[in-house]
Amino acid sequence: MSYEVTLEDFRPMQERCSNCLGCKFVPFEKIKSNRFGRNCPSVWYYNFNTYSARGRFQLGQTLQDGLVPWDSERSLEAIFNCQACGACEIGCKATRFNLEPLAHNIALKERAVEKGLAPAELTAAAAQLAKQKTMLPGAKKADRAAWADGLKLKDLSAKETAEYAFFPGCRYAYDPALQKKAKSYVKVLQKAGVDLGFLGKADMCCGGRAKQMGFKEAFETEAELNAKAWKKAGVKKIVTPCSDCYHALKRQYAFLGIEVEVVHVTELIADLIKSKKLKFKKPLDIAVTYHDPCHLGRLGEPFEPWDGKEVKVLNQVHTWEPARPRYAGTYGVYDAPREILAAIPGVRLIEMERVRENSWCCGAGGGCSVLSPEYSEEIASERVTEAQATGAEAIVTACPWCELNLDGVPSENGTTMKVVDIIDLVAKAL
Ligand code: SF4
Ligand code: SF4
Repeated sequence: MSYEVTLEDFRPMQERCSNCLGCKFVPFEKIKSNRFGRNCPSVWYYNFNTYSARGRFQLGQTLQDGLVPWDSERSLEAIFNCQACGACEIGCKATRFNLEPLAHNIALKERAVEKGLAPAELTAAAAQLAKQKTMLPGAKKADRAAWADGLKLKDLSAKETAEYAFFPGCRYAYDPALQKKAKSYVKVLQKAGVDLGFLGKADMCCGGRAKQMGFKEAFETEAELNAKAWKKAGVKKIVTPCSDCYHALKRQYAFLGIEVEVVHVTELIADLIKSKKLKFKKPLDIAVTYHDPCHLGRLGEPFEPWDGKEVKVLNQVHTWEPARPRYAGTYGVYDAPREILAAIPGVRLIEMERVRENSWCCGAGGGCSVLSPEYSEEIASERVTEAQATGAEAIVTACPWCELNLDGVPSENGTTMKVVDIIDLVAKAL
């Protein structure tokens, strides 16, 4: 079953938003300090209410009512500079019953795209996706499988079969600095006996970032192409090292009615450690902190089908029949990466203040790193500052977008921090 949601469907939520501003903060009972109590990168950076989820609910209403023109420069800036990180969802769920500010933010972007009002930088990325099946500038479809050169990886598009298809995602497939890490993931999984293949040159973008930027049709085209390619190749299970791909395949594809079993590579590695198929032999002696990627953590919850209607109790209380799923971030992937770090001898994990569903975004979400690089870097700098406050030597993450966006960015005191892909620690300790 697939679902369709339009901006008009959010009218009751726009009207029910209570101006409580919970969407700007880590839920109060989870705030550990004033310094790291904020959760929405957009309103933190632009410092104007329209850039918060609350502000976007108001903006959506005024745009729909024709009180503000859609082509206003300030409105478009507020619409597109949302990281699609979903932190507002968590803050809002803690204060209101079940509003969906993130889906509304994306619906606003989608309507602006439909009206031909997308910023030129994002339109160029969507054009690159249509042509080369990736949004990364300069990358070519013909080079898609080059990252796997030298690996003994079954080509599922050439009639070979395997239990899992490895879905690297565009960053690992094309970025020279990350290709060796993708190889490392494959080698570690193969060492533990995982039966692994990939789609070779038939591999392509998941389309998830197009969805985050508001390019709904482009996303749905990629999803359909991927579904067809998997069907043709007999793919049943997918393992991905990218958190954006994980979210797209697990949540957004299911929303379109495309069903595929997907695991993040950290989930698989954590299971292999538990079943003793991977054993660490070399202690590492390092203190690290872990950055929860938004799309693996709070947005990594499985999709729950729902087909019901809104009802009012005593003509006052809004509720839904049957009960509507409530994505509060609880069931995202938080434990698997931490279990891996705990299993590596000599690795000491020191947590940041904003963790798990309240993690601060790396700044690369929603197309903001393409559209507004200075804003994106400030968000990353805020995270590096928070990481430095732990006293850890390195930030570990499990997403290539976070890794690249945090790497080399100075904190508020001007110094950088080592950023490590979790596979680097795993491979080193084996
Ligand atoms: S998705 Fe992230 S950036 Fe956008 S409004 Fe919500 S918290 Fe702010
Ligand atoms: S937390 Fe939710 S209800 Fe409160 S202002 Fe933000 S969007 Fe509105």
